[in-house]
Amino acid sequence: MNYADRPDHGTTYHTGQTGVVWKRRRVPSDPLLRDLVEVLGPDRVTDGSAARRLYSRDGSVIEGGRAGPVCFPETTGEVVGCVQAARVHGRAFVPRGAGTGLTGGSVPCDDPVMIVTTRMNQILEVDHRRRVAWVEPGVVNLDLARHLAESDLHFAPDPSSQQACTIGGNVANNSGGPHCLAYGVTSAHVAAVEVVLSDGTVVVLGEEQGDSVGLDLRGAFVGGEGTLGVATKIAVRLTQDPPKVATLLLDFVEVADAAT
Ligand SMILES: Cc1cc2nc3c(=O)[nH]c(=O)nc-3n(C[C@H](O)[C@H](O)[C@H](O)COP(=O)(O)OP(=O)(O)OC[C@H]3O[C@@H](n4cnc5c(N)ncnc54)[C@H](O)[C@@H]3O)c2cc1C
Repeated sequence: MNYADRPDHGTTYHTGQTGVVWKRRRVPSDPLLRDLVEVLGPDRVTDGSAARRLYSRDGSVIEGGRAGPVCFPETTGEVVGCVQAARVHGRAFVPRGAGTGLTGGSVPCDDPVMIVTTRMNQILEVDHRRRVAWVEPGVVNLDLARHLAESDLHFAPDPSSQQACTIGGNVANNSGGPHCLAYGVTSAHVAAVEVVLSDGTVVVLGEEQGDSVGLDLRGAFVGGEGTLGVATKIAVRLTQDPPKVATLLLDFVEVADAAT
């Protein structure tokens, strides 16, 4: 149930002459929620107990998480607004993609503001000539693969959770998959990242083309497990498809024979 629909948070229900139940949305009494609703509107913030329970876990075995308000921003500006609201009210925030992580990275401690990127799911631009695509962090890995299927390019990292996991999660966990044995893990395929830092500043780490001057902060951010800020746009490097794919079945009598 969305925040605005909860009777215990200021929503008034009354029956009109037609018997229709009308809902009147009122301003939340909790100051943090009030600020988050100000940023996202009432339909994209929830502090319902079911949502908070759901977003207190991820794919890991870690239990005991406690989510605060769960937010669904759609733009970088809205992520900035969520981060600033958390900061003003002395609350931590936790970025979250699809929640398939196995290391507990999005399991929240002490009621942080949950910044869920699943609505930031647009493939913004694909530059075939330069082999770069700008995507939002909530793009599902397999959706990007399908989007590129008609071209001769692909995004190499292919975790076996790829039908659910997001590119933002792949970046934060520096994820890998079978193709990464040949092409390298996610850090080798991220050219640049737009990041909202913990004070609400927006920075772009890395360069779309070539190497950036100075410290490789892009390299530090990839694999940061959500502790260094929220990735809001990602420039991924695309890999040329092999000209031909064939499957070989080789039979060895001894394991050692395969190594010689
Ligand atoms: C069945 C299964 C198979 C899997 N197979 C693989 C595999 O083959 N290879 C592999 O590497 N992993 C695998 N995983 C683990 C997991 O799917 C990957 O780590 C994946 O990249 C996580 O993506 P997510 O969107 O679910 O991220 P989440 O679980 O939501 O988050 C993971 C971490 O990323 C952070 N995060 C998420 N979005 C952002 C953002 N926009 N900005 C900053 N931080 C962010 C979170 O805070 C958290 O720390 C598997 C998991 C499952 C359940």
